[in-house]
Amino acid sequence: MEARYGALEAGGTKMVCAITDVEGGILDRCRIPTGHPEDCLPGIVDFFRGRVDALGIGTFGPVDVDPDSIRYGDIGACVKDGWSGFPLGRRLSDELGVPFSVDTDVNAACLGECTFGSSRGLGTVAYITVGTGIGVGLCISGKPFHGNRHPEGGHIKVARIPGDVMEGVCPYHPECIEGLASGPALRRRFCRDPSTVPRDDPGWNVEAEYLSQFVCTCLLMYSPDRIVMGGGVMGRTHLFGMVREKAVEHLGGYLDHDSLDDIVVPASLDGNQGVLGAAQLAIDWLS
Ligand code: ZN
Repeated sequence: MEARYGALEAGGTKMVCAITDVEGGILDRCRIPTGHPEDCLPGIVDFFRGRVDALGIGTFGPVDVDPDSIRYGDIGACVKDGWSGFPLGRRLSDELGVPFSVDTDVNAACLGECTFGSSRGLGTVAYITVGTGIGVGLCISGKPFHGNRHPEGGHIKVARIPGDVMEGVCPYHPECIEGLASGPALRRRFCRDPSTVPRDDPGWNVEAEYLSQFVCTCLLMYSPDRIVMGGGVMGRTHLFGMVREKAVEHLGGYLDHDSLDDIVVPASLDGNQGVLGAAQLAIDWLS
């Protein structure tokens, strides 16, 4: 019988579980609200039990992604109730009796895009999520990049726009990109749900300015073939043109980009990039 791959996209509000074939075809899926780990694990285990040969996990962090570590797949210190130090990968692997492979949520999404999405076959692909938080994942030749632990690009400092006095939402940094441009930051900026704010509101200019600085950083650091942008905030698609234009301006003729239309693009997998990337982690593990 053909192998079946389990994929878990562990997010701050929901756990997306899927069973896929080797082509990334989703055969079954379910969503479980993210609560205390002891509350949401049984549902995840019930869904996968006896149905998969390996499990890939893309998760919120911090998470230990070093396969040689005894804490591989464990969640690090975090504010989510019950999750600090929780051995997510090992617990699921033990209860399901299958091997697991784990990566960060952004690396998983990046892997999904460069395996099954519009960035398939490209050499260097960055994935930026702009949602509850901001993060960046990177795949080089189809393999996720980790560095010593894993990058935390969402906390890179950006240059505050003159006149922007909003206090950032990051408890650690007054001027990091996550603090000034994540979904919660936007909510603070607009004093209401950003999804209801019309596209001509000047606050979007501020948002695009910060995101364009971050895109420039990625371009200058990694020289990627593609920067895929996803997450709830990027559902406001008018941001793409603004971000590209401002990023070209910031580059000031450096890097020789007249336009970033083919480089800075929306996610292409209907929101499935994270879970499909997690599936690919399982596929890679078994191959
Ligand atoms: Zn920060």
